[in-house]
Amino acid sequence: MAKNKRDYYEVLGVNRDCSQVEIKQAYRKLARQFHPDVNNGNTEYEERFKEISEAYAVLSNEDKRRQYDTYGFSGNLFDGINFDSVFSEFGFGDIFNMFFGGGFGGGYSNSYSGSARREHGTDVYSEITIDFKEAAFGTKKEIEYSADVLCKQCNGSGAEKDEDVAKCSVCGGTGQVRTSRNTFLGSLITTSVCHNCGGKGRIVKKPCTKCGGKGYLKVKKKISVDIPSGVSDGVQLRLAHKGNSRGYGSVEGDLLISIKVKPHPFLKRDGDNVKTMLDISFAQAALGTKIEIETLDGNEEISVKPGTQPNSRIILKGKGIIPLNSNRRGDHIILINVNIPDDLNNEEIQLLKKYAEGRHEAVGDGASGILSNIKNAFKK
Ligand SMILES: [Zn+2]
Ligand SMILES: [Zn+2]
Repeated sequence: MAKNKRDYYEVLGVNRDCSQVEIKQAYRKLARQFHPDVNNGNTEYEERFKEISEAYAVLSNEDKRRQYDTYGFSGNLFDGINFDSVFSEFGFGDIFNMFFGGGFGGGYSNSYSGSARREHGTDVYSEITIDFKEAAFGTKKEIEYSADVLCKQCNGSGAEKDEDVAKCSVCGGTGQVRTSRNTFLGSLITTSVCHNCGGKGRIVKKPCTKCGGKGYLKVKKKISVDIPSGVSDGVQLRLAHKGNSRGYGSVEGDLLISIKVKPHPFLKRDGDNVKTMLDISFAQAALGTKIEIETLDGNEEISVKPGTQPNSRIILKGKGIIPLNSNRRGDHIILINVNIPDDLNNEEIQLLKKYAEGRHEAVGDGASGILSNIKNAFKK
C-alpha cells in the first residue's frame, strides 16, 4: 500500500469520531466539487475525486472503518467492499469502472478494471518439506503441481477455429458498454462490463474440442524452485504467474509454496543462530577435553577448556544460519551441561574422597552411589 497516502478523515475533512451522516455529507459536498465530469476532466481534480471516493468507500462501512482505525492502510482494507452499492446511491455505481481502472493506487486489485478487462487466474497452493540444513543454506527443489494452463489447440481463445470467434455485437468488441445516467451532478456517462460477453469482447460460436471452450486445461507442471537460505518453518514463497490461467489474454495466478522445515535431532534454530546442548562429565569439565560435535558445516572438533562451568557456552562464530537477504551468518552456540555421576563404584568413591581430603572439603561417604550401584547390578 502506498506510503504517501493521506489520512481518510483528513481527506474528507471530518473528525475521527464523526457520525455516518457527517461522512456522507462531507463526501457529497466534495464529490460535487471534484467530480472530473463537472470539471472538464481536470486530472488534478480526478485525483482528488479518487482520493475522496476511496476514503468514503472505507469510512462509510462500519467494519472497514474500524479496521482502518486499528490497522491503518492494511493490505486487505478493500476486501469485501461492494463499490457498486457504495456509490449507487449517488447515482454512479460504476464509478470504479470509470475512474479506478485497475483499482486503487496500491494494494488493491480485483476484477474491477473497466477497459480491456483482463481475467485473473486463481492462485495454486503447494507444500514442500526440506531438512534443517537445506533451510539454513538455501536449496533448489523440484515441485510438481497441477494448474490450469493455456489450451494449445485454440491458443486460449476457446474456439475451434479462428473464424469461430466473433466480435461481440453488444459492445462491438470493447468488452464495455457505456450508459448515460442521471445523478445529483447531472447526466454522467458511465462504463460497465458488457454482460453479453462478460467483458471479453468476443463470442465463441464453436467451442474448442480440447478445452471445451474454456481456453485453458488442467495439467501437471514441474518446476525448479530456488529456496532462499534462512527460511523458517511455515514460510510461504510466492512465485508470480505460476498459478492458474483463464485462457487468452488472462493474467495467471501465483503459485504459493508453504515451506515445512524438518526438525534436526541435535541442531535447534534460535533466530539466525544454531543451538546445541553438549553433555560432558564433571571430570571433562574440570580437566578439559576435545569433543567432536555436529555443525551445519559437518563434524567439528571443539576444545572444552579445563575448568569449564555448567551452563557456560562455547560460541562458534559464523557457523549459524545464513539469514534471508543477507550474507552474514549467525553463530553456533553450544550450551554446556555438566553431568554429575550418580553411579560411582567403590574405587571411584575412594579416589574422590582422597581428592576431597586433599582440598579439605567435607564430603559424605557416597553411600547412595553404592546403593545405586547395587541397583544397577540387579538391573543387568
Ligand atoms: Zn482450447
Ligand atoms: Zn460484449
